[in-house]
Amino acid sequence: MSLGSPQIDIVHSFSPNLSLFSSDGLYRSAFKRQPCAMSALCFSYLDGVCTEDVPWYYSFEPSLLAGVPDHHLALAAPITAYWLLSTFFHYLDTRDWKGLEHYRIHSSPDAIASRNTRVSPTAVFWTVIFQQITQTVLGYMLLGQAHIRIPDHASKRTSIAQQLGVVLSSDKASRLAYFMYRWGIPLLQLLTAMVTLDTWQYFLHRWMHTNRFMFRHYHSWHHRLDAPYAFGALYNHPVESLLLDVLGPVIAESLSGMSTRQSALFFAIATLKTVDDHCGYRLPFDPLQMVSRNNAYYHDIHYQKIGFKYNFAQPFFAHWDILLGTQMTREEMQRRKQNSQVKVE
Ligand SMILES: [Zn+2]
Repeated sequence: MSLGSPQIDIVHSFSPNLSLFSSDGLYRSAFKRQPCAMSALCFSYLDGVCTEDVPWYYSFEPSLLAGVPDHHLALAAPITAYWLLSTFFHYLDTRDWKGLEHYRIHSSPDAIASRNTRVSPTAVFWTVIFQQITQTVLGYMLLGQAHIRIPDHASKRTSIAQQLGVVLSSDKASRLAYFMYRWGIPLLQLLTAMVTLDTWQYFLHRWMHTNRFMFRHYHSWHHRLDAPYAFGALYNHPVESLLLDVLGPVIAESLSGMSTRQSALFFAIATLKTVDDHCGYRLPFDPLQMVSRNNAYYHDIHYQKIGFKYNFAQPFFAHWDILLGTQMTREEMQRRKQNSQVKVE
């Protein structure tokens, strides 16, 4: 992509490889000129091309969605993800289902509304829309044109196998290169982006709480919501939005070396996780709450007076809170609340 980064093109898409089997022009023709790195072992040929060189999720289409350039998709993906998941949770918020009470972190929506009197949902909605328009314009300027170079899968795998061949037998090196090219490197890039974004957001968020000027003028906007709800996840001052929600992803994407399509996926996942962390529900079947202890139940502590200087980590993992002693668990919070009540009595 890029948001200013070199294009590595290890993986160009996570969509099924359909076009490989069609009789279209440029992309397939270009692919047919590629050598087969596995010619000695390959048993899957199509028109003389070893399909084992091509990851199953790769698409040769010039854009993942017909008619939508990939760099536009990367801009639209997080906004679409934000409102789809927010709408789902808003629907739950407006239901009077008794069964939901058990999963709500702050009892009923009426109770949440009574705590969020400092800013109306309408103001939150329009502020988020404004942030997203600003982010899209900035992202468009930073993204530039979509990158459509066709990755040379065979050569890349051969190169990895050759480097591994220094310490492994050629057969083992070839098999490991197969795994690394298809899964190892793309997953490592995704993990790098996640850890980078976490690091950026943790220190910036913590600084906004320890620096009086930053809190009073910028981060206090976000804390006008005493009890968070899904579509308020990105309710921030424009300056904070620029620092956290634009610069953070740009840096994460740049350092990880992801392709445009990988970045679209990453932006969508990061946005879904952010919305979910503010949703106000503790759902047993929610995969976004199961993959990390840093979830809605964890982040909610940060919104409470007693946890205001804790649980800064966002959006993926809690390691910075654990390493730097700013983690507060539910048990710890309850214990402190009980202690302070005893003192008062
Ligand atoms: Zn905060």
